[in-house]
Amino acid sequence: MARRAVWPGYPGSVASSTERTERTERTELMVHQRNATAAAIMRTIVRQGPLGRKELSSIIGVTFTTITKTVAELLELGALTESTPSTPRGVGRPVTPLDVPAGRRLVIGGHLHPESTSCGAYTLRGDLVTSRSVAATGRTQPARIDEAAELVTDVVAEVGATAVVGVGMTTPWAELHHGQPPPLVADVDPDALAQGLGKHLRHPVRVEPNVRAQALEHYWWGGGGDDVLTVLVGRSVGVAQIRGDELVWDGPGAGGLVSHIIVPGSTHPCDCGQIGCVKATCTDDALLRRAVDAGLLPPGALQRDLYPEEDTDGLRELRQARAEELGRVIPLIMSLVAPAETTVRGRVGTAEEIAACIDMVRSRYRELVGRDAEVRFYDRSRPDYWPHASAALALDRYLASPLWHERDRELRAAPVTLA
Ligand SMILES: [Zn+2]
Repeated sequence: MARRAVWPGYPGSVASSTERTERTERTELMVHQRNATAAAIMRTIVRQGPLGRKELSSIIGVTFTTITKTVAELLELGALTESTPSTPRGVGRPVTPLDVPAGRRLVIGGHLHPESTSCGAYTLRGDLVTSRSVAATGRTQPARIDEAAELVTDVVAEVGATAVVGVGMTTPWAELHHGQPPPLVADVDPDALAQGLGKHLRHPVRVEPNVRAQALEHYWWGGGGDDVLTVLVGRSVGVAQIRGDELVWDGPGAGGLVSHIIVPGSTHPCDCGQIGCVKATCTDDALLRRAVDAGLLPPGALQRDLYPEEDTDGLRELRQARAEELGRVIPLIMSLVAPAETTVRGRVGTAEEIAACIDMVRSRYRELVGRDAEVRFYDRSRPDYWPHASAALALDRYLASPLWHERDRELRAAPVTLA
């Protein structure tokens, strides 16, 4: 798997070519194993908090000697820190807890909103170091990408480039880039965004749809379980699933699209030719179109106008109907992937509308599957909501191969010498 990258091969020695090949293979295998152990140690500490070597050994299922050796390497690199415990646990030698460093390793998260660009720097525990948000002024996609790259570069410079182990950026669901409705300027092409950032930064950049970042944020920083389906209701409806310790449906075209699943009972025609698709029925874009068609909102209204401070009966009715439509279709997705736990995110509506949606999910799931659903709604609770989620993308990539990233970080920190 590409995300489990190992170090590139070492320069050859003066031995014969056969010997060299065998040695290179052996070295690469060792590097791969060391990296896998280092990843397991770092991942366990980020998920479970500070731990001692013995605890790590029993949790990960690797010998104490291997743990000690790998921990020594991570300590030397500065990827782990060791502190004297405030209260010794039990009798005998006190456990020396190992933890991720507070300020010397940071992940960056950035987000493009139709009206603003935001970026934040976070510790590996997800604690905010700094964040910024600027009004979007770019009127073309390249201009928006330049704007984002500039903001990210500023934040990286502020926290110090050597501390940064990676950058995560979120974009709306990829399918917004073709078909109806026409894309907004904020819907930049993910590849172009990654390339644009790459021109300004020497750090690894990961660009993913927003729902995937939310799933990772929940897993690494939100106390989420290891089998969770995340459903994001926004301009499109997106899903992401953590299974084991992996985010599934990786990469473009890998699945996880629910736009053309039919919402039971819906009569809204979709541009794909079907009647009642999710895309045509219960996205914010569909709701917005309906609100404008019904004269509830003026032409050119924005997504946020669906949730005005001064609510109207017409909009309330539309959102209430949508809450129930979501309640009929989300159980179909849940029954397909059978997660241990489901989280629904997005604006959706008022507290009552959200409750109506979740109640409907529960009762339909019971009717369809014969079991009770573990389903919860997560409200957006922090001002740096999207940068925080986006930073989890960078954390996830770093933790997949920490030794590789550490080596990459050292190379970036080295002064550039021109021949
Ligand atoms: Zn459709």
